[in-house]
Amino acid sequence: MKKGVFTTDIDKSGQLLWQELKKDIGYLSAQDQQIVELAFTQMMMAHGQDRRRSGEFYVIHPVRACQSLAKIRMDVATLAATLLHDVPEDTSVTLRDLSRDFDPEIIFLIEGVTKLSKVKYQGEERYAENLRKMFVAMGQDLRVIIIKLADRLHNLQTLKFVRPEKQYRIALESLEIYAPIAERLGISSLQNAIEDAAFPYVHRDIYHSFIHDSDLEINRRNRTLERILKRTKKVLEDNFIEPEKIYGRSKKYYSIYKKMLGNKTDLKNLHDLVAIRIIAHSLEDCYFILSCLQQNFDILPHRIKDYIARPKPNGYQSLHLTGFDETSETYFEFQIRTRDMHEFAEYGVAAHFAYKAKQRKQELSQFLSGENLKWIKELVDIGKQELSAEEYLKKVKLDLFQDRIFVITPNNDAIDLPKGSTPLDFAFRIHVEIGLHATMAKINGQIARLGDELHNGDIVEIMTDKRQKPRPDWLKWVKTRNARSHIRGYMRKTVQAV
Ligand code: MN
Repeated sequence: MKKGVFTTDIDKSGQLLWQELKKDIGYLSAQDQQIVELAFTQMMMAHGQDRRRSGEFYVIHPVRACQSLAKIRMDVATLAATLLHDVPEDTSVTLRDLSRDFDPEIIFLIEGVTKLSKVKYQGEERYAENLRKMFVAMGQDLRVIIIKLADRLHNLQTLKFVRPEKQYRIALESLEIYAPIAERLGISSLQNAIEDAAFPYVHRDIYHSFIHDSDLEINRRNRTLERILKRTKKVLEDNFIEPEKIYGRSKKYYSIYKKMLGNKTDLKNLHDLVAIRIIAHSLEDCYFILSCLQQNFDILPHRIKDYIARPKPNGYQSLHLTGFDETSETYFEFQIRTRDMHEFAEYGVAAHFAYKAKQRKQELSQFLSGENLKWIKELVDIGKQELSAEEYLKKVKLDLFQDRIFVITPNNDAIDLPKGSTPLDFAFRIHVEIGLHATMAKINGQIARLGDELHNGDIVEIMTDKRQKPRPDWLKWVKTRNARSHIRGYMRKTVQAV
């Protein structure tokens, strides 16, 4: 909350808010800026002098949510809908009233968000119902959930005004559901902001000491990083290469916390607490910079990660190198990527909706219909199964948190699978018939067994034989529900036939 707009005069607040917002939407055309302005004035009139629990004017909330989406350069429809997202629910202005002034596309998005908020989260049954709706909405238009993420972020940022029991519940739900969704969509800027805002309410006991310890270590390493940064610039200059941008970054608190829990390690052993990020002009430059750094710094050879050749499951691409500085005994990381990769790393799926991507409609529809978002369909499908609220929540959380890998078919298609999957899972994912008759696999050209574990980026080929049939021990080799249900289905059929 900025002090500037915390005034008792609604007109004054409105002016200040609009000035702030106007600065953030400079990337839109003049015509689109007018649509945002219209949404802003309508929103101001609808909410009027209403106030939130914090005492501040209600209108600040939709504007803050809208600003965080302007930062990731979302399109005009999303921004207008974000400004108006609480209007039908909380004011006397209806969707129908709004439809006189705004396109059906905008109305559709507002309606999507309104439907989601209708079910107030009380008890597990309602919570489960809410999630089911949310995933269905995501399947229809991802922008609905992107608005919901921005809405949630601002609610977290003003959570101190909410009753303590409610604080914990909202913050926990944010860490368990919203942040993982943002992560799966690759929108790291929203993911990090949501996690860091929820962190103190979920882990009250350790929060302050954790921040204190992290800051000490980050500050220590940053002193080293400054020196490394200077040297890096010099090295690149000597090699006649000029990056688009080069700067230091430190890891966000909650992601430090997660990494420490996951690896059961302590701060001292985290190699990527601080990093130097290099935005290169081209793909070739990325690899050239890599080789320059290898020659001039102490780089750990077994820790070079090429996420350009093998992107992370959510599409993230970069080269990561771990460096070691002898004098200060400090680990640090180099992250090298192009401008496009960088935007995708920050905005994720949102990068496809971003304003400049308008000409790339085809690319967008390909992305939305492809393998990238199959997990959303799966979540919608889980919602259709007859499960108790408790079972449903367990499955969704499992699915959201499960690490995914991408493997590649001989035709160069990427297939999204849970970590630990085998060639047999892959075979059933390609086609049931291929699964049922699989005999052997080739992983990266090498003969492999159907039960071997696959790794991110593996190129997988399946050999089949019409005479081959599923065996009961296949159930031990598969990780996916899909493969398991097909094998079971086959077993049942053959038992009945006998
Ligand atoms: Mn809201």
